[in-house]
Amino acid sequence: MRDPTASLSIPNLPEELTGLQEIALNLWWTWHPRAQELFASINPYLWKECIHNPIKMLRMLSKEEFAKLLNNSDFMHEYNYVYTLFRHYIEDAECTHSPTIAYFCAEYGLHRSLPIYSGGLGFLAGDILKEASDMHLSMVGIGFMYPGGYVHQVITSDGLQKGENETIKKDEAPIERVIDKDGNHLILQVPLIDPPVFVSVWRVNVGRIKLYLLDTDIEQNDPWDRMISYRLYTSDMHQRLRQQIVLGIGGSALLEHLGIDYALLHLNEGHPAFALFERLRHFMQHGKLSYEDALQKVQETSIFTTHTPLLAATDVYGFDMVGHYFTDFAKNLGIDMHRLLSLGVDPQNPAAGFNMTALAMRMCNYKNAVSQKHQKTATQMWRPILQETHSRIEAITNGVHLGTWIDGTLQKELDKTLGGDWEIYEDDEKMWYKCETIDARLLWQLHQKNKYDLFNFILEKLRHKWTSGHADPAVMLAEGALLDPEVLTIGFARRMTEYKRPDLILHDLVRLEKILTNPYYPVQIIFAGKAHPADLPGQRIIQHIFGVAKNPRFQGRIAFVEDYGEELAKYMVRGCDVWLNNPKIPLEACGTSGMKASVNGVLHCSTMDGWWPEGYNGKNGWRFGGDVSDDAKDAAELYDLLEQQIIPLYYTRDEDGIPHGWVEMMRQAIKSVAPKFSARRMMKEYKEKFYDHIKE
Ligand SMILES: *Cc1c(COP(=O)(O)O)cnc(C)c1O
Repeated sequence: MRDPTASLSIPNLPEELTGLQEIALNLWWTWHPRAQELFASINPYLWKECIHNPIKMLRMLSKEEFAKLLNNSDFMHEYNYVYTLFRHYIEDAECTHSPTIAYFCAEYGLHRSLPIYSGGLGFLAGDILKEASDMHLSMVGIGFMYPGGYVHQVITSDGLQKGENETIKKDEAPIERVIDKDGNHLILQVPLIDPPVFVSVWRVNVGRIKLYLLDTDIEQNDPWDRMISYRLYTSDMHQRLRQQIVLGIGGSALLEHLGIDYALLHLNEGHPAFALFERLRHFMQHGKLSYEDALQKVQETSIFTTHTPLLAATDVYGFDMVGHYFTDFAKNLGIDMHRLLSLGVDPQNPAAGFNMTALAMRMCNYKNAVSQKHQKTATQMWRPILQETHSRIEAITNGVHLGTWIDGTLQKELDKTLGGDWEIYEDDEKMWYKCETIDARLLWQLHQKNKYDLFNFILEKLRHKWTSGHADPAVMLAEGALLDPEVLTIGFARRMTEYKRPDLILHDLVRLEKILTNPYYPVQIIFAGKAHPADLPGQRIIQHIFGVAKNPRFQGRIAFVEDYGEELAKYMVRGCDVWLNNPKIPLEACGTSGMKASVNGVLHCSTMDGWWPEGYNGKNGWRFGGDVSDDAKDAAELYDLLEQQIIPLYYTRDEDGIPHGWVEMMRQAIKSVAPKFSARRMMKEYKEKFYDHIKE
């Protein structure tokens, strides 16, 4: 039953427990609480030490420890049960419900043991693969193995962000080598690049879906080519172009090599858009179509999801740079180079160069933005190309994978309230009405537990740091040593970049001090987030926040927690009380962390950008700020909101300490956000608007 590609070995694993390795090598376990509990029950302490990485943990267990498990009948029962669930899920291939979709993205947010993501784009891609698996869609993912991971953030005592390598430990990551016919690690040459570049291929199992990762860090490549996929989003434009050629062209070549015949190409953002060129070649050479017919066929079978309303965030390369790589390509196909390059021209800025988003907009008839508001912005931005191609941009608002993001204990509570098979109907708004009946005390206790878990997590991080022997005590305080789990807690965790205005709440420090240090109704704020290594203004914002956090006048009620990633995000979206979001309108295309918070009953407090105009209903969170962002005005509105509504609601308690008004809002948040902003609803829209329209 085991797959021949599985190459990982767990030294002492007995035959009777090989299913543990199978489960560990499929990220299915990350969205099934019972599988997580199974791993935790092996050794709760080690499970924590291994930061919830089952492969790492299993590799550390001795023969004796495994023998003990075999003799533990409770464990064996649970193991057999979970393994049966798993096999059932995997084997239940029961006719897939779509033509095969090749999904390309430069990053995937799946689990902390596989740091191949930088933020929202990656988590969306990860949630899409998981949901495609749950929905029996036939999808295959293509991405990059970044052996150097993304930056691991360390903040110095002056608040400077130091980026350290977060190297992927390949023998502890949930990945498998793809094997060629001779039993060796599969290595392919990327077409077009000269001198030649090679990639090795890894596979990640995401439930029923396979995600293939291309890795250039192999001996066959020259040292500088090994670095092509070393890091996410390099700022060196030449290297970046080569990354994108490897992803788009190399990824397509891999699918061809594996014999995966896909009817649809879905590009998540412009980075992999060269896959469209490869598809054009495919239709011309294999389908014997003319350039015009092949182009039309590419357009009719390709989907492009745009994620940014910022022109500056699109990749633009010099025409000569792109031309250099595609000279032979054009010649072989008999296409005039000028014609090929003109596919990437942005009519509003034709001289700027070859624009990857323009290319994707032009070559995909099916296009979408990621919220209704973003759809309007994107349509404005790309109007000339839309007119030229007689096409439009649809709105498909992002959603989050509920099994991944809803706390496990809350999921069990939902089993009782909504019925054990609620996952089947998770996008049904009516079903969620039953949330109204969740007991207030129970929901509050559950939330408090998540809050304590968050604070303990932060303290453990600090203990590790302190133990290292070179931690500055002032830094420890700024990183949350004085946080108090009984205090109203605002969370702000996202990429630290100007348009998100992370330090908006620090706008009027006098007013903020009064709010935070009120002895009767105190408030605290937890910040987290990385700045891109090339984003200097973003790094200055971190420095600003850190400086304020260190200042004793705020009594340790502001913290900046290092190294935001999948793990910290999970604790924060469950354990804060309020989730703050204040981007400059209209620059947040969607934003998904607020959805993750809301489905856990953490109340969203946001300016009206991204998904919030669709999500806010007056009862499930708060809105503030004008249609045109103004820092001073928006900050003042936020302080008013805190003083007049949020703080009084939080501290109005019954004799048992339960804030009934607050808990009612938590119920409203879960009930309204979970169905509408689930990945299920989103994937159904992709299916109905796009996938189902495309003929095989
Ligand atoms: C969900 C998520 C994001 C994206 O959320 P935004 O609201 O767009 O910031 C970024 N990073 C992590 C770790 C996440 O889990």
